Amino acid sequence: MDRFRYYWVDLHLHTVLSPCGELEMGAREIVFRAREAGLDVIAISDHNSCDNFPAVSELADGSPVVLPAIEVQTAEDIHVVTVFPDYDAARDFKDWLWLKMPPIKNDPDVFGYQVVVDSKDDIVRMEETLLIQGAGYDVDTVVSRAGERGAVTILAHVDRPAFAYPAVLGPFPEDYPVDALELSARLDSDQAEEWRQKYPSRVFIRSSDSHSPDTMSRGNCSRMLLEKPSFEEIRMALHGTDGRRVPWPWG
Ligand SMILES: [Zn+2]
Ligand SMILES: [Zn+2]
Repeated sequence: MDRFRYYWVDLHLHTVLSPCGELEMGAREIVFRAREAGLDVIAISDHNSCDNFPAVSELADGSPVVLPAIEVQTAEDIHVVTVFPDYDAARDFKDWLWLKMPPIKNDPDVFGYQVVVDSKDDIVRMEETLLIQGAGYDVDTVVSRAGERGAVTILAHVDRPAFAYPAVLGPFPEDYPVDALELSARLDSDQAEEWRQKYPSRVFIRSSDSHSPDTMSRGNCSRMLLEKPSFEEIRMALHGTDGRRVPWPWG
């Protein structure tokens, strides 16, 4: 039997904690939809928070594998997806991030509700601080501090006209110290190919950035060749280590 097989991995999706996330993005719907769509690994990556990871992880119970993540909004309003090996590391990073989180309150009528749930989707609390705002650290600092805590770091939706590194700061050096570049699932293969040609030495992933269940699908995420569906295997795949790899998502 082959040591490796392909797993379907979506490292970027939101829950009801993100104000822009649909209220149906609770733990039950996410786990149900991930199983229905045949996703093997999902990362719960809400804006500037990881507080709904425990609910989804507990309910999924390994099917799918659920990883803790945070989609950081930097001081420059650049989005960086940071995926952590375990919840302690994610919490520790969030504590650091929130040292410089401006004390702006969420207005649910304008932005939507920010709900922390348990695995039964009962409401634990409402997050009162607005999550879609720039935390007080620049992108270079966010990338390096997340990396120090063992995270995989990904420049989010680099193709988008806002909240993306190229849109805010322009082209980045080819060796910018993140583990991968993310492209939006909505790109067609020609549009995606343009990005591959701009950064030919980099590994690209496709992520759904789902805010509702209907966009969670294999066609909106990435295939990865892994020995098993785990954080460490994904890290190795992003670096092409020892036979693991991430094929071009539009291939
Ligand atoms: Zn984003
Ligand atoms: Zn997002």
